[in-house]
Amino acid sequence: MSGAGESEFENLDCSAVLADIWLLLDNECDAGARERLEGHVNACPSCLEHYGVQQQLKELISRKCGGDHAPDGLRERLRVEIRRSVSIRQTTYRVESD
Ligand SMILES: [Zn+2]
Repeated sequence: MSGAGESEFENLDCSAVLADIWLLLDNECDAGARERLEGHVNACPSCLEHYGVQQQLKELISRKCGGDHAPDGLRERLRVEIRRSVSIRQTTYRVESD
């Protein structure tokens, strides 16, 4: 598919980025980390998609819970779900490209 060279955004591991997006959404990370995460998300279609999903999740959580922060249990469960779907997706890509 694409040649070598366009690997700048691969400095960050996608699953780490997706985990950190929670911090970004909560405005809990510093400016440098935020810039790095947003840079990756903007360059990485699969993370961008998940970023959108997580923004929706956060809105859903705040509507349902009436607060800014989700209960730890719910939040952790959603994180596990997202990670699982990410690794399934990555495995699928690998199978398809072979
Ligand atoms: Zn990514």
